[in-house]
Amino acid sequence: MTQRARRPQVHKFGGASLADAAAVRHAVALIVSHRAEPTVVVLSAMAGVTDALLDIAKRAVAGNVAGALKESARLRARHVDVARAVLRGASQRAEVVREIDESFQELDTLVRGLDAVRELTARTTDIIIARGERLSATLVAAALRAERVKGRYVDATRVIHTDDSFGSATPDLARTDRAARAVIRPLLARGEIAIVPGFLGVSLDGAVTTLGRGGSDLSATLLARALNARAVSLWKDVPGLLTSDPRLVPHTSVIAQLHPREAAELAYYGAKVLHPRALIPLTRRPMPIFVRPFADPDSAGTEVSTRRMERRYPVKALSSSAELAMITV
Ligand code: ADP
Ligand code: ASP
Ligand code: MG
Repeated sequence: MTQRARRPQVHKFGGASLADAAAVRHAVALIVSHRAEPTVVVLSAMAGVTDALLDIAKRAVAGNVAGALKESARLRARHVDVARAVLRGASQRAEVVREIDESFQELDTLVRGLDAVRELTARTTDIIIARGERLSATLVAAALRAERVKGRYVDATRVIHTDDSFGSATPDLARTDRAARAVIRPLLARGEIAIVPGFLGVSLDGAVTTLGRGGSDLSATLLARALNARAVSLWKDVPGLLTSDPRLVPHTSVIAQLHPREAAELAYYGAKVLHPRALIPLTRRPMPIFVRPFADPDSAGTEVSTRRMERRYPVKALSSSAELAMITV
C-alpha cells in the first residue's frame, strides 16, 4: 500500500511534557520511533510559555515595558538554549536562532505598541500567544531534520480554519477538512512528517486565532478527523486519564479505557486534562484516542474508544469545578 493510502497517526505533545532540551529530544525520539507510518505531529508551546506570553502582554499594556522586555528576553534565551542543545551543525543552529530572534523582535514591537495604546484586544493577544506553539514546532521540525528525518513545518493557519472568536475560536470543520487534506496528504505521500503548531488557526479574514487554553488537544483531533487518522496519541505528563485530578486528590488510578462520550463529559465538566471540545471533531468519525505518559512511552495509558464499555464500575471518574462537582456515569 502506498504512503498516500495509509491512514496516518497523529501524535500531540503537550506543553506540560515539553519542559527543556531533554524533553524535546525525548519527543523527537518518540516521533522517530513511529516514523514507519505516515505521521502528523502537533506541538504545544513549551511548559509555561503561553502563561509567560500572556504575562508579557499584561505588563506591556499596564505600561511596564521594562518588565515585559525582560521577560521576553528570558523566554527568547530559553528557546535559544533548547535550539543550541538539540540541533547539530552551526548553520542549522544559526537558521533556527534567526527564526527565534524574528519572533521575539516582533513580540518586542508589539510590547511597545501596547504600551503606546494601552489597550489589549483578544485579537492582539492571539497574535502574541500563537508564537509559543510556532516556536516549539519550529524547534522540533529542525531537531527531526538534524536526525535526518524528513520533518516539515506546516503552519496551522494553512490547515485549521476557525471563526473570529479570538481567544476561543470555533473550528470550521468542513474548511479544515479540505485544507488539511490538500496541504498535508501530499506531504505524507512523500514520506515527510508534518509538524504542526497546536492551539492556533486562522479566521476567514486571515487573522491568527487561538482555540482556548489547552487547545492543542483540539488541533490534534481536528487534523485526525480531516486525515481519517488511524489513532491519536496525546502525550501528557500523567500516566493516562486518571480517576480524579492528581493535583487535588492524592490517590488516583489510571482509567484503562473509556467511551468518547465519557471522556467528553469529563473534559466538558472541568477535568483540566483534555480541552473541553477536543472530542467534538470525532463524534461522527470515531477513532481511538490514547492519552499516553510522555515519561513512560511503553505503558498503555488510557484508550478512549467505542471498543467496549466497562460495565462493572459505572462510576469512571470525578471531575470538579470550583462550585460544583459532577460524576461521570
Ligand atoms: P498537556 O500540556 O499535555 O495538554 P495539561 O496540563 O493540559 O497537559 O493536562 C495534564 C494535566 O491535567 C495533568 O498534569 C494533571 O495535573 C491534570 N489533570 C486534571 N484532571 C486530570 C485527570 N482526571 N486525569 C489526568 N490528569 C488530570
Ligand atoms: N499552549 C496552550 C496553553 O497553554 C495550548 C495547549 O497547551 O494546548 O493553553
Ligand atoms: Mg493541555
